[in-house]
Amino acid sequence: MSEPILEVRHLSKSFGANVVLRDIDFTVSSGDVTTVIGPSGSGKSTLLRCVNLLETPTSGEIRFHGKDVAARGVSPTAYRSKVGMVFQSFNLFSNMSVLDNCTVGQRKVLKKDAEAARQNAMKYLEQVGMAPYINAKPRQLSGGQKQRVAIARALAMEPEVLLFDEPTSALDPEMVGEVLAVMRDLARAGMTMIVVTHEMAFARDVSNHVVFMADGVIAEEGPPAQLFQDPQNPRTQEFLSRFR
Ligand code: ADP
Ligand code: MG
Repeated sequence: MSEPILEVRHLSKSFGANVVLRDIDFTVSSGDVTTVIGPSGSGKSTLLRCVNLLETPTSGEIRFHGKDVAARGVSPTAYRSKVGMVFQSFNLFSNMSVLDNCTVGQRKVLKKDAEAARQNAMKYLEQVGMAPYINAKPRQLSGGQKQRVAIARALAMEPEVLLFDEPTSALDPEMVGEVLAVMRDLARAGMTMIVVTHEMAFARDVSNHVVFMADGVIAEEGPPAQLFQDPQNPRTQEFLSRFR
């Protein structure tokens, strides 16, 4: 057993009177690919946003290598370079070229010089098949290409963990495969990932742990073979039956 990288402990989050996450606990170790599935509104995005410090937990802890990252004195920007995030809507900087999208964080946060940032960005743009498009602006790209750039941008920070929030949900169906293929390769190469997805084949084939969320709690979790073939919770059974 490798030691945990991320530990979410007793995490709760409310928006006013609306309790969105209740007492969430899970652990991610090096090389884990954890998929998070569940109905719309169950709190999946809020969970990832809390892990990325885009939301402040109402209570509970998020520990990164044992240290509570919500505590005072932890810089969210530095932490986010270690725990990166890829969004459903890409969130590329629309006024910047593909290359600049992939160098700006390295320069501003990691303080790399322009040439080192460029070389590193090129490495990851090649990995996702987007090196021919370095001078393009996001609006000139397809959705699948934009998402591959967003993945390269996240990788260029050399994170220890990558979070994906429904990375293929905004894509035309014919572009889902190219993004899933990149993610599959990352998983194979040992990247530690938490992936919110409705792509059940990806969850079943690529992840080693599946978390099923319903109404702000982890209703069931386990290895994909168990969770998909022999779900115990009636809510998991009902949810999975929609995909058959
Ligand atoms: P999922 O990603 O599983 O669809 P979300 O985490 O987006 O679920 O949302 C869970 C619940 O939290 C929903 O009821 C949603 O309306 C609420 N919610 C999410 N973000 C906010 C916010 N910033 N302010 C108020 N309510 C929010
Ligand atoms: Mg969501």
